[in-house]
Amino acid sequence: NTISIETESKSYKVHVGSTIFESALALYEQQIRQADHAVIFVDEAVAALHLDKLLKPLQSFLDTAVHVYKLPSGESSKSFETFLACQSFLLVKGCTRKSILFAYGGGACGDVIGFVASTFMRGIPFIQCPTTILAHDSAVGGKTAINHPQGKNMIGSFYQPEAVIFDTSTLTTLPHQQVLSGMAEVIKHALISDERWLEELLSYHSLESMTEEQKLSFLVKGIQVKAEIVKADEFEQSVRKYLNLGHTYGHAIEASVGYGNITHGEAVAVGLVISLQLSERLLSLREGTAKKLFHSLHKLGYTFEPVLTQEIDQLIPYMKRDKKASFGELHFVLLEKIGKPCMKIVPLEELVKAHVQLRQWSK
Ligand code: NAD
Ligand code: ZN
Repeated sequence: NTISIETESKSYKVHVGSTIFESALALYEQQIRQADHAVIFVDEAVAALHLDKLLKPLQSFLDTAVHVYKLPSGESSKSFETFLACQSFLLVKGCTRKSILFAYGGGACGDVIGFVASTFMRGIPFIQCPTTILAHDSAVGGKTAINHPQGKNMIGSFYQPEAVIFDTSTLTTLPHQQVLSGMAEVIKHALISDERWLEELLSYHSLESMTEEQKLSFLVKGIQVKAEIVKADEFEQSVRKYLNLGHTYGHAIEASVGYGNITHGEAVAVGLVISLQLSERLLSLREGTAKKLFHSLHKLGYTFEPVLTQEIDQLIPYMKRDKKASFGELHFVLLEKIGKPCMKIVPLEELVKAHVQLRQWSK
């Protein structure tokens, strides 16, 4: 499966499939051979499980050694310290503008290495090699970032990769919590694009009952949705904002519960239900849609416990700090109907009502 991404700044391909590193890398053999250095930046947990899948075929192209640098696993790698350590590694190894980087890991690794690539010598090529379900989203579209103590993703750039190679055989070792996290973004892609696909996704009794083939087809679909949006709006001036469905409330939950205590996608799942409740109240979304989503997500294993433990007053300050907020008003992505997102200012009292209602459902 190959999906083309066309943006103003660059066109490139996303290759998705099981055990595809060798064949996909072959498509870039010339470019890789011409590089003076190739560097794999890999999440250390991924390195322990899957490093050879990428390293071996890469080495077979090159006469020179491939450098490997292991990043702290997960979110902790999106720091100034790691950013600096990566830049230092590149300089010490003698890398230049002719070098090529590989980001091999989940969304965290892709985000920090994308930023490293975009700033080293004012920008060098890199290839995204995602290893989580969630990264079907983050590896595509060119947003890069590290975190600041004042907030997540506060320092970053728009910088597109040369290619994305998504070898889904790496997903077999993904912990259950990370499967939940990633599937929430898949469900988000369905909510903003396609009702029939959504119904299919929600009809499963558990995430485990999805076959590898089905998962693969959902990832491809999710990437297609993202591709279309990024093509229309690379720099998030308009429709790209729709990808934030569920995120205003979700980010607040994440921050309030504490990063690391809940995965990004599990927090977003709660936010998706809240967005649908608000869409029913403020727009013409069919009544009962939010409750149906709630029950389906619950069945699939998502927990709505944060709604019970977090007070709305704790969440609101985080929502007001959201990148989409302005003049103290809350701007939410809502749905006129499934597949038809729009932006809407949400009055505080409506948000409170939705929170209280979801609390009732969750008890
Ligand atoms: P992650 O990168 O933090 O990885 C989650 C955990 O899974 C880590 O502990 C990691 O070591 C482990 N892991 C990764 N792949 C594995 C595998 N194949 N087998 C076993 N363990 C594996 O999490 P994520 O959910 O992939 O990404 C989240 C990050 O993505 C956040 O920082 C978020 O801000 C970012 N993000 C970016 C964008 C974007 O457009 N750039 C979009 C969405 C999310
Ligand atoms: Zn997200």
